Amino acid sequence: MSHALNAPKKSSYDVVIVGGAMYGSSVAWFLASNPDFNGSILVVEKDPTYEFTSTSHTNSCMRQQFSQEINVRVSQFAAEFVKNFRAFMDDDPRVPELALHSYGYMYLADSEAFACVLRETQKVQAACGAGTKHMTRDEIQHAYPFYNLDGIIGANHNLIDEGYFDGNTLFDWWKRSARERGAEYVTNEAVAMTRNASGRRVESVTLKSGETISCGTVVNASGPRAILTSRMAGINIPVEPRKRYTFIFAAEKPLDRDLPLTIDPSGVHMRSDGTYYLAGCPPDDDPAVDYDDFEQDHSIWEEKAWPAIANRIPQFEAIKLTNSWAGHYAYNTFDQNAILGPHTTVENFIFVNGFSGHGFQQSPAMGRGTSELITYGEYRSLDLSPFNFSRIEEDRPFTEKAVI
Ligand SMILES: Cc1cc2nc3c(=O)[nH]c(=O)nc-3n(C[C@H](O)[C@H](O)[C@H](O)COP(=O)(O)OP(=O)(O)OC[C@H]3O[C@@H](n4cnc5c(N)ncnc54)[C@H](O)[C@@H]3O)c2cc1C
Repeated sequence: MSHALNAPKKSSYDVVIVGGAMYGSSVAWFLASNPDFNGSILVVEKDPTYEFTSTSHTNSCMRQQFSQEINVRVSQFAAEFVKNFRAFMDDDPRVPELALHSYGYMYLADSEAFACVLRETQKVQAACGAGTKHMTRDEIQHAYPFYNLDGIIGANHNLIDEGYFDGNTLFDWWKRSARERGAEYVTNEAVAMTRNASGRRVESVTLKSGETISCGTVVNASGPRAILTSRMAGINIPVEPRKRYTFIFAAEKPLDRDLPLTIDPSGVHMRSDGTYYLAGCPPDDDPAVDYDDFEQDHSIWEEKAWPAIANRIPQFEAIKLTNSWAGHYAYNTFDQNAILGPHTTVENFIFVNGFSGHGFQQSPAMGRGTSELITYGEYRSLDLSPFNFSRIEEDRPFTEKAVI
């Protein structure tokens, strides 16, 4: 669907952000809220309904169960931000408290090798102060008697600051508050960029409506379309759209307690979703898809998701699918981790890209860090430099093993 385009009020901005969903709005809000940043901000968003964004298709969960310490710390800031949302929003009485349902992620292991990986990652998480516990099969069965644990050796589970959070309300308030603090949002599409004579800076961004906007800094917050925006500046990044399926179902016999977000060895995950349940999975064959391909594949429910759910939780043999959707991960094919910060030669081109399935929870820390980088030329709260683009050019993967 095409939307009426608006022209920006000015022809030059200190920061132009391409994409105004979770990341565009996170960066805009943190910048607009930073007392040391006095510049102008333009957010260019081609679809103000956000209908086909990753942000609208998210499952909105957070976890501290990552293999890289920095990813644990990034999610710990998400929990702090969500739990103290109104305080972070300057105690604005209009701002609601945000829900955070900490039923935890239950990472099941069906081999000694994977149980060993879980024990190692538990140590990384515990060293950061996370509440992750390694559980034996008997301990799992005792705490959650509804699981069929045939073939399961152990699991990692964490009941502190891990589970569902109301990220959509957070997104709405970032957008609203960023505007109130001076960021200008326009419905428009970035279609081209020009670089200066040395090639080291993007000088301007051209919009679909024809205007050419001069910029101090460009932020690529285009989600699964990140590579299209990068190419406008002559840059390639290893990010592509991958389809992920979500299913909502009702159970004839609901469980007597919360279902943790259970990562089954089959690749299917399932969790409580209010009085319903939610499951998700990738397709077995997982290619890059067309940017506009959101077609649902019902055979994935019939042949993959439902059998895995019924096997792991026999009480779920009688369930009814009530809703489903397909969304796109902005999938980093290089090492499945975020790509953040400036390009190595085009110095004023900043990435916030490649978040795969954990971008919602990373948006507070990554938005804050990007605002620090633009304002001070360095990260001040958390050192996010392990996510630098330079690792790709140097062929130095910074691999995150816990990607769902
Ligand atoms: C099924 C699914 C489940 C997920 N579950 C979780 C979860 O449980 N926990 C978690 O942390 N994360 C989860 N994620 C990931 C998370 O949702 C994403 O990482 C996050 O929403 C990415 O936000 P974004 O702003 O980068 O991208 P998007 O939301 O896709 O936004 C990009 C925006 O850029 C705009 N745009 C693109 N190109 C242009 C252009 N040239 N000009 C103007 N505008 C442009 C688009 O219209 C869009 O609004 C999930 C994702 C999916 C798909």
